Amino acid sequence: MVEFLVIFFVCYIWHSLGVTVGYHRLLSHRSFSCPKAVEYFWILAGYLAFEGSPIWWATMHRGHHRYVDTPLDPHSPRYGIEHARAGWIRKVGYSEAIDPHIHSKDLIKDPVYRFLEQGGVFRRSHFMCFSIGLTLRFLILLTFGWVPALASLLAGFAVLQIPLMLNVACHLPKLGYRNYQTDDDSTNVWWVALLATGEGWHNNHHACPGSAKTGMRFWEFDLAWLTILFMKTVRLVSRVNVGTHEQHIRGALRRMEVSPATRLEALLDDRKETSETPALCVSSGSGA
Ligand SMILES: [Zn+2]
Ligand SMILES: [Zn+2]
Repeated sequence: MVEFLVIFFVCYIWHSLGVTVGYHRLLSHRSFSCPKAVEYFWILAGYLAFEGSPIWWATMHRGHHRYVDTPLDPHSPRYGIEHARAGWIRKVGYSEAIDPHIHSKDLIKDPVYRFLEQGGVFRRSHFMCFSIGLTLRFLILLTFGWVPALASLLAGFAVLQIPLMLNVACHLPKLGYRNYQTDDDSTNVWWVALLATGEGWHNNHHACPGSAKTGMRFWEFDLAWLTILFMKTVRLVSRVNVGTHEQHIRGALRRMEVSPATRLEALLDDRKETSETPALCVSSGSGA
């Protein structure tokens, strides 16, 4: 039992950081730079937690920031809790407003990510991800026995649930508190932050999406940020964007200056932004 719990815990942390450090802060937001081997290490951790195609994940997430809590947001709970949790991943392809060829040009250049994307056919890329994840656990079963295989599989499935839950819980203001007056429903939820290794400080994140650090108050524990900081200390990371408190306030204010309807119109007219130039606290571009 102890062996199972230790393996489960180690796998859970690795897979969860794969989502937070790899899929989210690195690929979706380009909040830091690192060698390709380090990038693949974290993306592998997320992929084996059944997170799906990295291009799909990052493009949908950029779409979330771009159209947050509007009808074009892929998973806003304003338009249905179950849709925001898991309904949106059952779509067959991208919507007209969210296009990886426009919003994720930087990721499409990578041949590995292109292969995992399976031409943008969601069912194929999801199937491939699940097949690879299950095959790996089968190989662990054959090589090391059922305890590590089951612990690894359950950790992967557990981590899969976290971002789905976060999409709902961290956009229901009554469940948390807000440090910044953003024009969306984003909120900070402490228990999501613990389960998601730092990702629950979601109101902070929406105020300054380009920041690699989302815990702003001393009690806002952010394991993903500590991991990035550690990689910076041992020189695995070369550039890190960190938004100050003032930059978070300014980021939130900038979005408040225009009404959501005007912003949405402007965004629809301006679909040519890419994430290739990382920008700190830009929340409406694809780099956010
Ligand atoms: Zn959000
Ligand atoms: Zn984000």
